[in-house]
Formats: sequence, C-alpha cells, structure tokens
Amino acid sequence: MTKGRFGRYGGMYVSEILMHALLELEEAFERIYPTEEFQKEFHGLLRDYGGRPTPLYYARNFSKHVGFKVYLKREDLLCGGSHKLNNALGQALLAKKMGKRRLITETAAGQHGLATVMAGNICGLKTEIFMGVKDIERQASNVNKMKLLGAKIKPVKTGAGVLKDAVSETLREWASCSRTTHYLMGSTVGPHPFPTIVATFQSVIGQELKQQILEKEGRVPDAIVACGSGGSNALGAFKPFIEEKGVRLYFVEGGGESLGAENSAAAFQHGSPGVLHGSLMMLMQDRWGQIRPSKTRAAGLNYPGRGPEISHLCEEGRVKPCYALDREVFEAVGVMCRTEGLIPALETAHAIAYVLNHPEEFSRDDIVVINYSGRGDKDIEAILRYYYGSS
Ligand SMILES: *Cc1c(COP(=O)(O)O)cnc(C)c1O
Repeated sequence: MTKGRFGRYGGMYVSEILMHALLELEEAFERIYPTEEFQKEFHGLLRDYGGRPTPLYYARNFSKHVGFKVYLKREDLLCGGSHKLNNALGQALLAKKMGKRRLITETAAGQHGLATVMAGNICGLKTEIFMGVKDIERQASNVNKMKLLGAKIKPVKTGAGVLKDAVSETLREWASCSRTTHYLMGSTVGPHPFPTIVATFQSVIGQELKQQILEKEGRVPDAIVACGSGGSNALGAFKPFIEEKGVRLYFVEGGGESLGAENSAAAFQHGSPGVLHGSLMMLMQDRWGQIRPSKTRAAGLNYPGRGPEISHLCEEGRVKPCYALDREVFEAVGVMCRTEGLIPALETAHAIAYVLNHPEEFSRDDIVVINYSGRGDKDIEAILRYYYGSS
C-alpha cells in the first residue's frame, strides 16, 4: 500500500477496531472535499469567520536588523490567534457532512482545543477535549476560553499527563464511538488519512503566500522558514513550493534548554524512525523503543514525534531540519517586539530565532518568508518571567 506513505514514513498502525473509522474518513474526504459545495462553504468560512486571506507583511525594521528582506505570513491574525483554525474548520465541516454529531480531540497549549470548539460550535457539533493534567494547570487562560465556548474538558492523568498521553486517550475513546464521533486531529500526525487531510486544509497558507509574494516581488521567495513539531503550519506553507527547487525550506523544531536528549524536543537531531499514534515517523525514543519525553518551553512544539510527511521531506533533503534553543527563542521574541511591535507565540519565535542566528544561511539579496504561525498572548507570563524574573 503506497497510499498514506511518504517514503518509508506514515501508514496505519492501529488496532483493527479503528480501521473502519479511518477507511470511512478517507472515503468521505476524497468524495466530499473536491465538491464545489464543500469548497464554497470551507473558503467562505475561512474568509468571513476566520479573516482570510491573512496578510503577507514586509517587516521593514526586522529586515534592516538582519540585513535581508523578511516577510511575515500573518497566521497570528487568523481568528483564534494561530493557524489552527484552517484545519479545525475543514475537519468540522467534513464531520458534519459525514453525519457525525460530536468532535473529540486533544490539545497541549490549548490553541488546537480552542480552534476545535470554535469550529464545532459553527457546525453544530458537541466538543470534548482531552488534555493532560499538567497542561491543564499550565494553560489556564485557554482552558477557560474553551469552557466558556462550551467544550467539555477531559483531564488525562495517565503517563506523564501531557500531550502524547492525551493523544493515546483520544484514540482509545474514538475506538469506542467513531460511529457518531469524529476525532479532529490537530496536526499532520496520526494514522493515514489524517496527515494528508490536515496538510490539505493547511495548504491554504502556502497558496495565498505564493500569490501574495508574486504580487509584491514578482518572484517566489528564496527561503521559507517555519517552526513545528507535527508539521502542519510548515507543510501548509511549504506545499505549493515543494516542486520549486529554488526555494529553500527550513523546519525549526524545539531545541529546548540544550540539545541533550533529556532537555530537548528536537526529534530530527537525535531521534530515529519509530511508530507512535498510528504512524511511522521520526521519534525521540530510547534503544528499546520507549518514547523519550520531549522538553521545550513552547507547549505547541512539545511532542516527541515529527509527522510522516515532514519526516520524509527532511530525510530526502528537500527540507532542512533545524532547531532553536529556548534562550534564543525568548531573545527572538524581544527582537520582534522592539523592531515590529509584534509579540509572537513561543512556537513562532523558533522560526524567528533561526533567521536571527544563522546569517550564514542567507544572503543580502534573499527574500525570506517566516510563517508567523501565532500570537504570543498565551505566553506573556513565560516571556515576562524570562525578562524580569518572577512576574
Ligand atoms: C500548534 C502550534 C504550532 C505547532 O504545530 P504544527 O502542527 O507543527 O504546526 C506552531 N505554532 C503555533 C502558534 C501553534 O499554535
């Protein structure tokens, strides 16, 4: 079977009871997504509810600071404050057309949970969100927003009480209720067809970006830099440029405190191929195949695996896997604040940090696009603590 495979990565490593749900989803996506009716509804919602197209902003001061032209693809301006809504709206709409009545999902920083309950409410679907107990503690403001919007929060105590445990719990729940319920996967991870579905819905970022940069510069950019763990915002931006071999693509993961495996989330730096949550991908694991805990201050990058498609593109050499350390990330937030008056999400700041700290990768005539995946309101306390000590 080559469907759902990206080189050696991907696949459907799930128990028999989930196969039916996955095949049903694959069939429905292939049938419904291309229809004019679906496209009209999806893009209508992205426009009128989400606020698309998001601007492509020429960051004049930041450009002067680094010595080459930098544009920001402003996904922080999408309703909800990050790129997550593109995918959530697409899948919620699909679930509704499949006759589902309920959405389940998991979330770490709460950005995906928030996008899911927003999309669920629009489509008239109930929403339940599995969240590690540790993450519930750390992300009070997004938890409150999700509750206010009517989501049921399901605390996950198993394992370490973090994202990877919440994903396992959601997959278990889905196996028992897939007839009525859709699992709204939040990134380009999980068993086929999820990685393909999520990348397709997120590719609206890259399609807009291509049109916008051609209008502004009359040519494609020299480089696109995106942060990620599962890979959804990066793939969304990269997709229409994969065949444009002149465009360098950089994927920046969470280096954590240091690259030592105990303090990092950099699966491309010291991971190896393995199976997690239904798919073969690059993974932080020990030599017995036990998952190593990932560690980074950016909750949205704190996952031990890289999705199958980004794993493959990095292995092929089409995308360059990179990382930024926590310290560089907080410093990058400061630079963006001062030069452009924008507070980026800690996840996004990984991409910014990479551009700031790797002048050898870029030349004076380069046009570089940073996929500005989200805004930093959720991270204000952590940022203040870094700059001013306890806040
Ligand atoms: C969730 C999130 C990410 C990481 O998710 P990907 O699927 O790897 O893109 C990056 N940036 C922001 C702002 C996020 O909320």
